[in-house]
Amino acid sequence: MSSFKCPSDLSGGLYFRTGKRIQFEAEHTFPVVEQRLGAEVARCACAPPALVDEVVKEAKTAQKEWANRTPLERGKVLRKAAEIIREHHEDIARWEVRTNGKPLVEARIDIDYSADTLEYYGGIAPAVLKGDYLDIPGGGASRFAYTRREPLGVVGCIGAWNYPFQTCVWKVGPALAAGNAVVYKPSPFAPASPVLLGEILTAAGLPDGIYTVVQGEAETGEALCTNAGVSKLSFTGSVGTGLAVQRNAAVNTLKPCTLELGGKSELIIFDDANLDNAVNSAMMANFFNQGQVCTNATRVFVQRGILEKFTEALLKACDEKLKVGDPLNEETRVGANINEFHMKKILGFIESARAEGGQVLRGGVQVHPEGVENGYYIDPAVVTGLTDEAKAVREEIFGACMIILPFETEEEAIARGNNTTFGLAAGVVTGDLARAHRVAALLEAGSVFINTYNDCEVNVDFGGFKNSGHGRENCIDALKAHTQTKAVYVNLDASSTAY
Ligand code: NAD
Repeated sequence: MSSFKCPSDLSGGLYFRTGKRIQFEAEHTFPVVEQRLGAEVARCACAPPALVDEVVKEAKTAQKEWANRTPLERGKVLRKAAEIIREHHEDIARWEVRTNGKPLVEARIDIDYSADTLEYYGGIAPAVLKGDYLDIPGGGASRFAYTRREPLGVVGCIGAWNYPFQTCVWKVGPALAAGNAVVYKPSPFAPASPVLLGEILTAAGLPDGIYTVVQGEAETGEALCTNAGVSKLSFTGSVGTGLAVQRNAAVNTLKPCTLELGGKSELIIFDDANLDNAVNSAMMANFFNQGQVCTNATRVFVQRGILEKFTEALLKACDEKLKVGDPLNEETRVGANINEFHMKKILGFIESARAEGGQVLRGGVQVHPEGVENGYYIDPAVVTGLTDEAKAVREEIFGACMIILPFETEEEAIARGNNTTFGLAAGVVTGDLARAHRVAALLEAGSVFINTYNDCEVNVDFGGFKNSGHGRENCIDALKAHTQTKAVYVNLDASSTAY
């Protein structure tokens, strides 16, 4: 058993510094909200730039010892953290529900997945983090070159709010495995889970100062992006903020960025699709996490021949499966949205769809489930009758609003699917496997799903094309992206050097 104990409330503080959860007081604060209840449960101080600078310096000092450990030694700490997460799985999942509003059944999956991520990077680090021996001219045994894979230093990480624990682990896992220190700034809308991760990592043996959590809004994020002591940025959030992050990464110093940004994905359902598979894929592409999933395909292109049957079966499945309610209840499939502002933004998209000639076939209204009447709940919407020019079809909604768009031909579906500046994900549902792979190759997206949607595995590359970002998370490349390669030329025969 480890020393970690999952806290029951936020009273221990929402900062994590030198191996401890702490309170930090400052003039500027933001509200911490429990979405399922629609209630403010605490206020949290925003870290001013001076504090960001202090913790980056601390991290830089602590990182040297961590970098000197072998990848195997660092990997053991991550694998121990994974073990602790599994031990406390249910408590952490319940904490995640209370910090985010997602249904418990989904939070459990996120926590499992987070443990897998730490196990994966802890496991592959010794095999991946190695150099090469390289022959060079005039060589033999006395002249050669070799490479070393070295950490970058301090990685500044900034998270979104929709997968608070998992997003944090996705960034922290490869960064720490590679020998870096991390300063993490969560979203103010879901600030609590990264602090739990700090306590878990400390209980697993991570040295103090290697993982720090500071809280705040844009000012704190910008301070991290522009800080000269930070060597790399890893950001998850909207395209607009991603642009600012990349700009600020070039102020003071030149930092590489991993940018995991928004999406407006498409799912293309052909006439020859298996109907159940088409309905399930469309639901997986739209309704997890109240629709607040970056890869979600709100644009569901359906070929004319299957349109009527698909729509009928979809509406039936929605009525049967989409139980909206308290996310802590086992049977709830749709929990609370992240905050009131975001809920109203989603409802605004549905209004705009109506105004632009769309018909809302189901849902699209705020609901007040028994016992949690003040939370931010929306009955998921299915909309039809819009053109590709409609606001709801062009912009990321980040909420449960599926839009059905009929099409005639394969070429048309591909062209319309690609007609977006986003490129995070796409899907194709068809019984014709040759067509499936042909279409998958032509879709401009970082992930393509064939006869499925929103699968996600730690060993499979995840990231965007076009404005959905660059760099990859999960996979071996994410680990390598937290290192830099040093080439060392060697001459063992001093008499051979002529000038
Ligand atoms: P956001 O861009 O508003 O905020 C993201 C983070 O950036 C927050 O921590 C925020 O406080 C911080 N921030 C705000 N201004 C900043 C600045 N100027 N400099 C540095 N940091 C700043 O996004 P959000 O509303 O938290 O998240 C929703 C968005 O994230 C959606 O677009 C969604 O698609 C995207 N997202 C992408 C992925 C992915 O992996 N591609 C995953 C989850 C969410």
